[in-house]
Amino acid sequence: MTRYIFITGGVVSSLGKGLTAAALGALLQARGYSVRLRKLDPYLNVDPGTMSPFEHGEVFVTDDGAETDLDIGHYERFTGVSARSSDCISSGRIYSSVLERERRGGYLGQTIQVIPHVTDEIKNFIREGDGETDFMLCEIGGTVGDIEGLPFYEAIRQFALDNEFGKCLFIHVTLVPYLEACSELKTKPTQHSVKELQSIGISPDILVCRSEQTLPSKEREKIALFCNVKPSSVVSAPDLPNIYEAPVSYHEQGLDHAVLNGFAMDLNSPVKLEPWAEVGNRISTVKGEVRVAIVGKYTGLEDAYKSINEALIHGGIANQVCVRSEWIQAEVFEQEDPTPYLESCDAILIPGGFGERGSEGKIKAAGFARAHKIPFFGICLGMQMAVIEMVRSLVGVKNAGSEEFDHERNVSGGTVRSFEPVVYHLAKWQQGNETVSRSVDDDKGATMRLGAYRACLAEGSRVAEIYQAVDVSERHRHRYEVNTRYREELESHGVKFSGMSPDGQLPEIVEIPDHPWFIGVQFHPELKSRPFNPHPLFADFVRAAFVQSHLL
Ligand code: GLN
Repeated sequence: MTRYIFITGGVVSSLGKGLTAAALGALLQARGYSVRLRKLDPYLNVDPGTMSPFEHGEVFVTDDGAETDLDIGHYERFTGVSARSSDCISSGRIYSSVLERERRGGYLGQTIQVIPHVTDEIKNFIREGDGETDFMLCEIGGTVGDIEGLPFYEAIRQFALDNEFGKCLFIHVTLVPYLEACSELKTKPTQHSVKELQSIGISPDILVCRSEQTLPSKEREKIALFCNVKPSSVVSAPDLPNIYEAPVSYHEQGLDHAVLNGFAMDLNSPVKLEPWAEVGNRISTVKGEVRVAIVGKYTGLEDAYKSINEALIHGGIANQVCVRSEWIQAEVFEQEDPTPYLESCDAILIPGGFGERGSEGKIKAAGFARAHKIPFFGICLGMQMAVIEMVRSLVGVKNAGSEEFDHERNVSGGTVRSFEPVVYHLAKWQQGNETVSRSVDDDKGATMRLGAYRACLAEGSRVAEIYQAVDVSERHRHRYEVNTRYREELESHGVKFSGMSPDGQLPEIVEIPDHPWFIGVQFHPELKSRPFNPHPLFADFVRAAFVQSHLL
């Protein structure tokens, strides 16, 4: 039997609900149970694929090619369970599916209403995969009281009622702020938030209270009394030095105990938290520090590169070093010399991205890393920029560019290609035995090369050695590909196309063997990195950065 845990948030956004859900998932696994985590987002976009990273942080891509919320990344990193497209649901997706069915005549002439049609659709999504795992954890995005969220709250209320007693549990994550002026922790916002939830028919079973410090028992008891829960169901969630301490901290504060108690399950099952304690230990006892320059576009918002950040931390865990990321706006290099910014860094990383802004700056940064023999990691757009730089500098094609941002120009009636398309738009490619096609005029949503694709690595290449494999599968999210037209010339200048798609058509990895560490990948390795199982490319990149730090 699958038990359902619904996680809602109150008082303010950005409380770390996703992290609470992920850490609880890990805790239940540590108790020997299987879990799946799901995110129900009230916004109207069909998926986050078309949202700017400034709006919504990074887009996390699953193996099956869904463009999902960044919380799905937390779930995967904490539980190691690969998410599926059915694990991320938005109002937009719910409404489009309801409306599609209505157009097909699927409702036999009924008037379509939020209750029951939309709420039924939400319940069907929640129920998908029922029976596969011991627990299904569903996080509701946003904050209780948001207009868009109402159908979701209503659906989970009904869901608990539809099922037998004891199958569902509601956890509400709130904030208990500390007011400096009166030196007091304030429980009123939590009380109000619980009231709001109760007014729509949901009584939370457990309250997870976020605060700067651990909540003293006086406040816990007060919250319990006013919010109609047992004091043992008020779990304190203090700020932590790093997120990977959350499972151990939540256990100490009694979250797994409260959950199992809520379901009347065995409280004495052994808890295997040693691996988490070990991760926390390795982060706090480092033997050095490396500085990695990240030259990108969305540098003002860390969430925009969440998985890159985490994968670097995992690489640090593997090498027991602390990774300091230095975020640099690529545009800066279009006006200024990169030397003062980059010469003292131990490594340079260019992450994925979209659009022209800053591209020339990224090309300069890749060139700097290549010429000054600084470890370099180019991810997706980062690899494309590195290849353009090498075609310009090594092969001498000065107008090498990308179809993403260089366009054909109309000159006195004729079309003139003002650039050489080293990165170009591919119309057809293979996915397993299927041919997939796309056009530049397609919708912008979900029309990229998305999800897991295999890559074949050249025997004896550096990447084959790092992966300890010649056949790998990695997640993709891009519209453009590196053109193989310059492959031979680049190879004669010491650049190796060391990873290709299985049909040999699409470059997946380029490397420079005669360089301390220069690797570009067309995919997103950061999405598959885990604290216990750091991605080999990130682990080796941080190792190379550490070696470099001793050279300076
Ligand atoms: N904008 C590039 C493309 O669409 C790279 C995408 C990315 O870095 N994820 O091909």
